[in-house]
Amino acid sequence: MHDAPGAGGEGPRKLVIRNIGMILSGRLEQPILDGDCVVCDGARIAAVGREGDLDTADATTVIDAMGTTLCPGLIDSHVHPVVGDYTPRQNQLGWIDSTLNGGVTTMISAGEVHMPGRPKDIAGLKAMAIFAQRAFANFRPAGVKVLAGAPVIEHGMEEADFAEMAAAGVTLLGEVGLGSVKDGPTAKRMVDWARRHGMQSTIHTGGPSIPGSGLIGADIVLEAGTDVVGHINGGHSALPDDQIVCICEGCRAGLEIVHNGNERAALLALNTAREMGDLGRVILGTDGPAGSGVQPLGILRMVAMLSALGNLPAEQAFCLATGNTARVRKLDCGIIEPGRAADFVFLDQAQHSGGASMLESVALGNLPGVGMTVIDGVVTGGRSRNTPPAGRVPVRVRG
Ligand SMILES: [Zn+2]
Repeated sequence: MHDAPGAGGEGPRKLVIRNIGMILSGRLEQPILDGDCVVCDGARIAAVGREGDLDTADATTVIDAMGTTLCPGLIDSHVHPVVGDYTPRQNQLGWIDSTLNGGVTTMISAGEVHMPGRPKDIAGLKAMAIFAQRAFANFRPAGVKVLAGAPVIEHGMEEADFAEMAAAGVTLLGEVGLGSVKDGPTAKRMVDWARRHGMQSTIHTGGPSIPGSGLIGADIVLEAGTDVVGHINGGHSALPDDQIVCICEGCRAGLEIVHNGNERAALLALNTAREMGDLGRVILGTDGPAGSGVQPLGILRMVAMLSALGNLPAEQAFCLATGNTARVRKLDCGIIEPGRAADFVFLDQAQHSGGASMLESVALGNLPGVGMTVIDGVVTGGRSRNTPPAGRVPVRVRG
């Protein structure tokens, strides 16, 4: 494992987080855990429970949570990074650092499509995918884990191209439909090749996002058979309601709802999945940077919106942004349990927001305040400069 930037020396690290007011697990089956303490060994969670029952001796770092809520670091299932912490899409620097201030500790690329002069020939798109995977594996902007290197498929690709990229470390496909392949049979053939070589896939669902992109309807989504139905609520233009329901019912893929989409369609997808008993398939993304800009608080805003307008208990809404995404995306973070990555966001009720608790406040549609973030057991940020101020913030008392 790599240490996050700022991890310090090479000696053993032990992080103890005590005085936790509430632990959100990230798991829909049991969203709230009993306990007030988490112990981490290096980059991994070692134990969760009551402080008196855990081995807290010899900690190199101790955080007093001051009664705040410990939540798995949020995961953005749909971003379009290009290079470092710069996006040419809106000429913005520091958008990933800003998003860390919104509680996001892991981002997944749906394609580095905003690269100026993006190569669309096969040699060029393979080179760019390998370059992006390498660059973000070697450098975590603000400490955030950016899983990138997500090629957009084009006509003419052969299975050997997928084998070559997979052997070089590429694990994702960018949104099917953003390239020249917009028909079901070709998409399915290439998605199957990608899957055979261990690459996960997603698809652009809905109308064109900007001039030059195209429509992908339910028939193509279902035939392509990607692992994730990218922005089922459109990015921005959603499909007609009957097609959204048809996709939910017609496959077993992850159902991704994004901030840069249609909010009414988001609620339709949520309600359809819930009625099917399939809330575990619903995952969240921002789809930023995009025409709507970047959304540092996008994932928190989705959690609050789906909780308030979708009548989803807030502790369940947080699971859509953490454990659900981790399971659908096969990540080692997103859930608070021993063995998982020690990626956390500390939350508390925003000052002067309604409700008797952080969860009640979120269920009323308010954002929580972020007080601290931790990635791989290392503190990466304190009180957020972007969320409304948290009532209480954790304090690092050692290390
Ligand atoms: Zn898209």
